[in-house]
Amino acid sequence: MAKTLYDKVWQAHIIDQIGEDSLIYIDRHLIHEVTSPQAFAGLNEKGRKVRRPDRTVGTMDHSISTRSLAIDACGPANALQLQTLAKNCEEHNIQLFPVGHQKQGIVHVMGPELGLIQPGMTVVCGDSHTATHGAFGALAFGIGTSQVEHVLATQTLKQSRAKSMLINVNGKLPVGITAKDIILAIIGKIGHAGATGHVIEYAGEAIRGLSMEERMTVCNMAIEAGGKNGIIEADDVTLDYVRQRTDAPYKIYRSDNDAQYFFKKTYNASEMEPIVAKPHSPDNKAKVSECLDVKLDRAYIGSCTGGKITDFRAAARLLKGKKVKIDTFIVPATREVEQDLYKEKIGGETLMDIFKNAGAYLGDPSCAACLGGPKDTFGRAKDNQVVISTTNRNFPGRMGSKQAYVYLASPYTAAASALTGHITNPAEFINN
Ligand code: SF4
Repeated sequence: MAKTLYDKVWQAHIIDQIGEDSLIYIDRHLIHEVTSPQAFAGLNEKGRKVRRPDRTVGTMDHSISTRSLAIDACGPANALQLQTLAKNCEEHNIQLFPVGHQKQGIVHVMGPELGLIQPGMTVVCGDSHTATHGAFGALAFGIGTSQVEHVLATQTLKQSRAKSMLINVNGKLPVGITAKDIILAIIGKIGHAGATGHVIEYAGEAIRGLSMEERMTVCNMAIEAGGKNGIIEADDVTLDYVRQRTDAPYKIYRSDNDAQYFFKKTYNASEMEPIVAKPHSPDNKAKVSECLDVKLDRAYIGSCTGGKITDFRAAARLLKGKKVKIDTFIVPATREVEQDLYKEKIGGETLMDIFKNAGAYLGDPSCAACLGGPKDTFGRAKDNQVVISTTNRNFPGRMGSKQAYVYLASPYTAAASALTGHITNPAEFINN
């Protein structure tokens, strides 16, 4: 029987059948401070060891202070999480990239950067946006704390099989339209529960034309449509990225031409426009051209969907030689991205200098205000501020204040809007 990409990765990892569920082998387990301390506590209580420490890698991203590298600068509760993760990793011989390490960063961006993700893998992490790694043709999903413990102990996971849906994005994207516009358009069309119980396979010329970083954004936000995973068949773009980082073996799976999907949808990239998600849901889609009168208090360019090097290249292209009109926060996803801001240049000026000279504020790599964080978190939304943000969620209170209004947007749209103080079509600046 013809199979989808998802079916093939899934079946290649089945160890056993438990009723309707399957026990699957997990190739890579990424851990961070939020969901793992309780999992380790359970493991330690039972006197169990981590089955494959060599397949488990940790970082610190959600709870770290954005003011100081000192672990206790983030408040007692967060500091305890971080210290516990460090202790657990040491005790169980797990490689950890802690605060201040040159490779530390948001887990979903750090993993690929370190070459930890290869096509055909199964990848889990105790964070819903683990779907990001599906960009590599891997089967990646977020898991809960008890499942983190199970994977630590056994390197396996009991899961029910998802249904596959196929989203084709054909044609070529117009200049200034990014992965974020594509995914906001899709989520707006199918709704926040439109992919519930499904893995979304993305295909088509426009998807193939995306960089790995942009593919990661599209897969990451499958979750905002209710999907279990997002996945993209690996190709030369994938292999270029992976081979620069690792010589680990991989296996490329492809959907059969006559594979059956429970749902198929096709979009024409050439007709796409800049999109925002209005408050307070990622599926509250509007064209940027419909929101030009929305006045803004701040812009935020960061997170696992908007803090990668491609996002900053786009933002810098617009901000070069100009000044922002509103408070604008730049937060690299990882230390590696931050280092690249010092190296990459546009017209002889580093991206870092472009942002500084434009009057933006530069933050330390972390999740920062994507999930609000403590009151002093860099870029955290205050009071009833109106924010344009490259993050992936805009529920009330997500970026801090419950009264704030957050518009999700591409890095181009966020940068253009930072220059004018209201929601702005990036074409206004890209063509000039
Ligand atoms: S940047 Fe935001 S969405 Fe991404 S992992 Fe951190 S908190 Fe989650």
